[in-house]
Order: sequence, then C-alpha cells, then structure tokens
Amino acid sequence: MHKSIVNLIEIQKEIYLKKKDSGKQPKIIAVTKTFSLENILPLIDHGHLDFGENKVQEAIDKWTKIKAENKNLNLHMIGKLQTNKVKFAVKIFDYIHSLDSIKLARKISEEQKKIQKNIKLFIQINIGKEKQKSGILIEDLKNFYMLCSKEFNLNIIGLMCLPPININPSKNFEEMNIALKDLGLNHLSMGMSADYLEAIKYNSSFLRIGSKIFGKRN
Ligand SMILES: *Cc1c(COP(=O)(O)O)cnc(C)c1O
Repeated sequence: MHKSIVNLIEIQKEIYLKKKDSGKQPKIIAVTKTFSLENILPLIDHGHLDFGENKVQEAIDKWTKIKAENKNLNLHMIGKLQTNKVKFAVKIFDYIHSLDSIKLARKISEEQKKIQKNIKLFIQINIGKEKQKSGILIEDLKNFYMLCSKEFNLNIIGLMCLPPININPSKNFEEMNIALKDLGLNHLSMGMSADYLEAIKYNSSFLRIGSKIFGKRN
C-alpha cells in the first residue's frame, strides 16, 4: 500500500477514536501543494475526496483533468488568493478557505455569478493579529460577514485560521469557537500536521493536513 494511504488511515483512526463519542467526525483535506499527481493518485484511487492546494496555477495544472474524470472530488483553495486569479479559481475550486478582504469578496461574487457557481467559503481570521499574515480581525468580523452574505450573496460556511507558530494554539482555537457561535455558523477550518489533534478538541470540522500524509515538502 502506498505510504500516503497508510498515513491517512493512521490519522483517520486516531481522529475516529478521539471523536467517536461526540458524533461529528471532521473532514481531512489532504494538502497536496508541491506534490506531483503521481504522488496523489494512490489516495484518489483509495477513494479520498478532499484535497487542498495553495496556488491557483498549480491547481489548474494538476487537477483540471483528474477533476473532470472524478466529479465527486472536492478541491479546496487554502492559500492567499489574488483578485486577478479569482476568475480561474472559481472554476477549479469547490471551497475557498482564504476569504480575507472586501475586494476579494466582491470579485468572487462577480466571477462565480458568471459561471453560476456557489463556492463554499471560509472567512480567514488573523487570529494572532500577525503583521505578516492576512485575514480579518475578530473585531471587524461581524461587519465583514454581513457584507459578504447580504451584499455579495456569498455562501459563507465558516471560519479559518492559521495560528501563530511555536505557541500552543488552544487559546486561539477557543476564540475561533466564540466567533463562530456569534455568527451562527457551523464550520471551522483549523488544524495542520502539527496541531490537528488539538484542533479537533476545539470542534474543527476541516483539518488541512499535508506533510503528515505525503512526507516532507521540498
Ligand atoms: C501547507 C498548508 C497546510 C498543511 O501543512 P502541513 O503542516 O504540511 O500539514 C495547511 N494549511 C495551509 C494554509 C497550508 O498552506
């Protein structure tokens, strides 16, 4: 069996055991950025359905054909999205986790209308208020959310964050839960290879896991 399948099953087992009493099992997004299709195909054949990329061009090159052949695959955009790439992003992606500005919200709304798509969106929160990271600040979230849902008719399903590295993310994960409840939304996109077990304690429903499945990236 391909190593990525072994790793995925291991993670699934671990999560299942931790969450089996709570009923709701989180989805695992296999983050395939930098990995070639050759490395990804075994997981697709295994039946895995959710995959994540962080660059539009890379996603188009890798996923256009395979997605046309496998209609039930879900492709998730998890990286910074530039407005000039939105036209292409709305075609290939089913979810965008990185909605982080009014300008981007407007553009997604315009472009998805043209092709009659209704992308599932996460608002990215800059939970650690870090200068180098994008995302909406918690104090601006309510207004941003209202604008997105009322003015732009966007299908916001939840909130996403990338907590500061090298500190325990528990407090940030807790703040995300409070913000989510405030808006009455259901989904959190949190948890990567290093902190997914912590994230599931905090109700995360979409885990974005790369290296733990595919190995180290170059
Ligand atoms: C690369 C990436 C991941 C996956 O990271 P790993 O540590 O390899 O699991 C998750 N989320 C985002 C936004 C990423 O860019």
